[in-house]
Amino acid sequence: MNKVLLVEDEEKLARFIELELTHEGYAVDKAFDGRAGLEAAESGGYDLILLDIMLPGLSGLEVLRRLRKSSQVPVIILTARDAVMDKVTGLDTGADDYITKPFSIEELLARIRAALRKQSVDAEKDSGRLSCADLLMDVYRHRVSRDGREIELTGREFALLQYFLENKTIVLTREQLLQKVWGYQYMGETNVVDVYIRYLRGKIDDGFDLKLLHTVRGVGYVLREEP
Ligand code: CA
Repeated sequence: MNKVLLVEDEEKLARFIELELTHEGYAVDKAFDGRAGLEAAESGGYDLILLDIMLPGLSGLEVLRRLRKSSQVPVIILTARDAVMDKVTGLDTGADDYITKPFSIEELLARIRAALRKQSVDAEKDSGRLSCADLLMDVYRHRVSRDGREIELTGREFALLQYFLENKTIVLTREQLLQKVWGYQYMGETNVVDVYIRYLRGKIDDGFDLKLLHTVRGVGYVLREEP
């Protein structure tokens, strides 16, 4: 269960967010001022922090500044409408995202999911180990396996698969792939991507019931466990 710390001095709003997050399966702790928030955040143990900017005691930005000296926990700041400088300063200070009040709970939940997903991908990246279902990549040792069996990839196939693994579940266009994996500016010729997708599929998906590399018609390709 993901643990969220909510630092928000408007108690009614805090209570509402807490109820919604609890309903979605998060464990929520609340703090109502900057100092209590910083203390709780520094104690660690949270997967994500929702941090209001306008707080009594210490401002949210000051909390963030101090917290970032010791922690890289994902932080989403809650800012007032039109407080453009707060957003800019917040992101510069190390916030992962911001959401503007008033917000819908659906938007907040989507941003929380995105921040947590990014965090888990970053953690995987740092370890050099990427995965999708039973497909595993060890970036540092330049090895790939599926269901425990080693797969031989060329350099380009490896780079292509790595990019897919780093962007798991995200639909990638041919232009994006060409630019990121081949380093070309898009010049209208994207067939090479299709050719390499075919090579890669032949190596990672052929012979498996669960296909990982999917075509999204008219858009591009995506690596994910669901069809
Ligand atoms: Ca406030």
